[in-house]
Amino acid sequence: MKSLWNDKDAAEFSDDDLAMRVYTSRLLGADESLVMHGGGNTSVKSVVQDFFGRDVEVLLVKGSGWDLGTIEKPGFAPIRLEETKMLAERDTLTDTAMAKQLRGILLDQSAPSPSVEAILHAIMPSKFVDHTHTDAVVTLSNNPKGEAIIAELFPD
Ligand SMILES: [Zn+2]
Repeated sequence: MKSLWNDKDAAEFSDDDLAMRVYTSRLLGADESLVMHGGGNTSVKSVVQDFFGRDVEVLLVKGSGWDLGTIEKPGFAPIRLEETKMLAERDTLTDTAMAKQLRGILLDQSAPSPSVEAILHAIMPSKFVDHTHTDAVVTLSNNPKGEAIIAELFPD
């Protein structure tokens, strides 16, 4: 796998979390062995201002229907980070309830629906989270003996 990262290109986005997220998402999306049909999810934790000018910690996570290879800033859904983490603490959460709650904590109601993997991204401590469904991993996991193969390769 060859990194497509370019220091000169990336320097343009060093003071804009969302622009950097767009740049790096497109790098992942450009490699078809990493993202099949533009799939996978990326996010960045940042601070934005709400309608009243207050700073709000958010998770900007890929919205449904956007392709990593061509995503633009409006393709990221801004959801309140604290509330997203709180959803992870629930004992149970149905898919319907999760989708409804994630829409409810959007800062911009015209944004696309946040990825169903938003909660996972929220609880990861890293500022930038990249998650793809690479051919290499899917080949190992998505077959009848997947669990045994993964256990053998990654015993810990
Ligand atoms: Zn996924």
